[in-house]
Amino acid sequence: MTELSLEQRDRAAGAILGAALGDALGAPYEFSTSSPGVTLHGTADDFPGGGAHRWRPGEWTDDTSMAVPVLEAISDGDELTSDKTLDRIGVVWWAWAKDAKDVGVQTRRVLSEMARPSAVDLRISAYNVHRETGRSAGNGALMRTPPVALAYLAAPKGAARTAAAARAISCLTHYDSDAGDACVVWSLAVRSAILDGAVDWTAALAALPEARRPRWQQLVQEAGSAQPDAFPNNGWVVHAFQEAVSALASAGPTRSSWAQGMLTPYLATIEAVINAAGDTDTVATIAGSLAGALVGASALPEAWLDLLHGWPGIGASELESLTHAALVVTR
Ligand SMILES: [Mg+2]
Repeated sequence: MTELSLEQRDRAAGAILGAALGDALGAPYEFSTSSPGVTLHGTADDFPGGGAHRWRPGEWTDDTSMAVPVLEAISDGDELTSDKTLDRIGVVWWAWAKDAKDVGVQTRRVLSEMARPSAVDLRISAYNVHRETGRSAGNGALMRTPPVALAYLAAPKGAARTAAAARAISCLTHYDSDAGDACVVWSLAVRSAILDGAVDWTAALAALPEARRPRWQQLVQEAGSAQPDAFPNNGWVVHAFQEAVSALASAGPTRSSWAQGMLTPYLATIEAVINAAGDTDTVATIAGSLAGALVGASALPEAWLDLLHGWPGIGASELESLTHAALVVTR
């Protein structure tokens, strides 16, 4: 196994913390129907708290809560595509969803249909929800995919294994192939940002089944030259994905404008997402993972990290510890 450099480790922590911070920064504005006109400064004042679920300042939502068990499995060295691991992740989600205040509609339906579920039970339930409602391409799988990028950073066939893990975890609750495809592309995009300090969309798209690759190529391209508010249906995984790509592109498309240790492009990305309204916390989580990877954890303000917290009663330092544990696992 190749050793990761200090910069790569900083970017890996940036992906996890950047996602959780995006979640907490976007939470007060979820369900807004017009731009809240937010300007972020990198200070504690960026966390006013409130919103539909009365969040405390710095509190993350379901997006990060559902990502935590995935990160824990990675830190423990579990093989993410094995049903034993997927059983464990699914049971933690199922127990969490019993009293969580903000479980997404589709995820709640999948999880609530059974007693203590196995991975097989969840996949069947996800298929049944798809069959009964005619759709299952909500953004709830994409929002929890960022940790998957850390699992096989230095492993043999790392990109292919990352893609397989992203799809396996998506399929536990989301039957539609759009959800799995988005998770594959995003996890690989974050992986490339961690390894190289720049996003390799071409490599990320190459992991999709050939027949669906041209469509996603077009979705990425279209998003790169559009404004974030051009994707208003952002509860749908495709618009959530495109809005995140668009927000990143609007914050600075070139490698030099994303110098590690500089907060500005991260601020601009999250601001663009929040001001595009709708599912602000989820799109900010998705975009925040990639923006955080590009700038690195060292760019993220202490004032934010001090306030960051959420289920299961942890904060930024625990997320960092889990990240560091994930990076020393040999696979
Ligand atoms: Mg949420």
